[in-house]
Amino acid sequence: MIISNDSGFNAAHNEATKHLRVLVVDDKAFVRTMTGRVLQSAGIEHIAYASDGKEAIAHIRHAEPRVDLVLCDLMMPDMDGVEVVRHVAELEHKPVFVFISGANVSLLGTAVDMARARGLHVLGAIEKPISVDAIRGVLVKLNDVASSTKIAAPQFAFTTQDLAEALEKEQFILHYQPKIRLRTRAIEGFESLIRWIHPQHGLIPPGQFISLAEESDIIKPLTDRVLLLALKQCADWKRAGFFTKISVNVSAHLLVDLSMPDRVLREAIAHGVDPKQIVLEITETGVFRDAADTLDILARLHMKGFSLSIDDFGTGYSSMEQLRRVPFAELKIDRAFVNGASQNMKSRAILQSSAALGKSLGISVVAEGAETVEDWDLLTELGVDVGQGFYAARPMPGEDVLTWSRKWQQQVS
Ligand code: C2E
Ligand code: MG
Ligand code: MG
Repeated sequence: MIISNDSGFNAAHNEATKHLRVLVVDDKAFVRTMTGRVLQSAGIEHIAYASDGKEAIAHIRHAEPRVDLVLCDLMMPDMDGVEVVRHVAELEHKPVFVFISGANVSLLGTAVDMARARGLHVLGAIEKPISVDAIRGVLVKLNDVASSTKIAAPQFAFTTQDLAEALEKEQFILHYQPKIRLRTRAIEGFESLIRWIHPQHGLIPPGQFISLAEESDIIKPLTDRVLLLALKQCADWKRAGFFTKISVNVSAHLLVDLSMPDRVLREAIAHGVDPKQIVLEITETGVFRDAADTLDILARLHMKGFSLSIDDFGTGYSSMEQLRRVPFAELKIDRAFVNGASQNMKSRAILQSSAALGKSLGISVVAEGAETVEDWDLLTELGVDVGQGFYAARPMPGEDVLTWSRKWQQQVS
C-alpha cells in the first residue's frame, strides 16, 4: 500500500467535477456519444460536443460559462487536433486539453509536446476506447491544476527587487519529497524544493521565480538560504533520531564561484551535518559555461564528500560529455521520460538505456516524476535504483516528514 498526500478521487473532487464544463471534439458521432456517457458516469454534468475543429473553436470562444476542459481527437478530416490547438493558443481563454486518439503513441506524444510549447495546459493523452478510469485519472489531475492555480495563479510579474525583499523577510521555505530505493522500498533521502510564501499571492512554486533569480545575482544568496534551511532541517531530524540524506538543487549559474565548495563545507560542519548526507543536484544544461572553473568547483565539492547528481538528465545538450568529465554519483532521469513511460515505447527505451548507462558507470540511477503504479513498477523492472514522484508522495513541509516516514516504514515492514 502507498501513502500519499494526494487523496485521490474523493468527495471534494466529485463536488468540483459537477461544475466542470467539458467539450468533446470528435468527428465520429459514436465516439462523441460513448465519451459523453463515460463523462456522465464520472459525474460530469455539463458536456458540449463539436464534430469538427471549427465548431470547437467557436464554442471555446463564445461559451458562457467558459469551457474548462477539452477532450480533443487528433485525427479529424477538416481541421485536425494540431490545428485546433494552434488556434486555441491564440485565444485569451485557454481551456485545459486532453487528447483522445487511436493514433500511435509516438504521434500523441508529439502533439502533447507541441501544445505545451504553444502555452496550453495539457493533462496528457488518452487512447480510445475511453474508460471511466482514464477519465477519473484526468479529473484528479485537473483538480491538482485547479488547486495549484488557486494557490499561485496567474503568472505574476515579479522583479529581482521583489526576490531580494522576500529573501530579507525570510519568505522562502523548503518542501521535501522522498526518494525511494525501488528494490527495498527504503527511504533513500529527500529532495528539498523551494517555495515562496508570498504575503499576497500565497504559495508560489519555483517555476515562477527561479529563472528570474538565475538571470540576476539573486540566485547566489537564494541558494545560500536554501542550503542553510536544508542543513538546519537535516540537523533537526538528526536530533530527532532521523538520519537521512537531503538533495539540494544547485543552479549551474553558481558554478563560477570558486569559493563555493569551501563555503558549503563550512556551513555543513557548522550544522554538524556530514557532507555525505548532502546531494547537490546540478541541472545539466549549463554545467559547462566556464569549463575550467566549473570542473574545478565540482571536483572540489566531490573531494569534500558531497555527492553530485546530474539533474534532468536527457534534456540538456551534452549530457554524455558531462557524465564523462564530472564525478557524478547520481544520474537523475528527467520526468519527461518517466511520466507515462509505461504507455510509451520511446520513453521506456530511453529509461532502459539510461538505467543501463548508470549501471555500467557504477552510479545510482534516480527517476523522478512517477505518478502511477504502472510507471513505478516499470522503473523497478528496468533496474532503476531510486524512484521519486507523486505516486510515493508529493513534496511536503519539513514538519510532516517524520510522520510520513514513520508511516512509510511501517507499511514497508
Ligand atoms: P527538479 O529539481 O527537477 O525537481 C523536481 C520537480 O518535479 C519538482 O517540482 C517536483 O515537485 C516535481 N515532481 C516530483 N514528482 C512529480 C510527479 O510525480 N509528477 C509531476 N508532475 N511532478 C513531479 P517543483 O518543486 O515545482 O520544482 C521545479 C524545479 O525548480 C526543480 O526541478 C528545480 O529545477 C527548481 N528548483 C526547486 N527548488 C530549487 C532550489 O532550491 N534551487 C534551485 N536553483 N532550483 C530549484
Ligand atoms: Mg532536482
Ligand atoms: Mg529534475
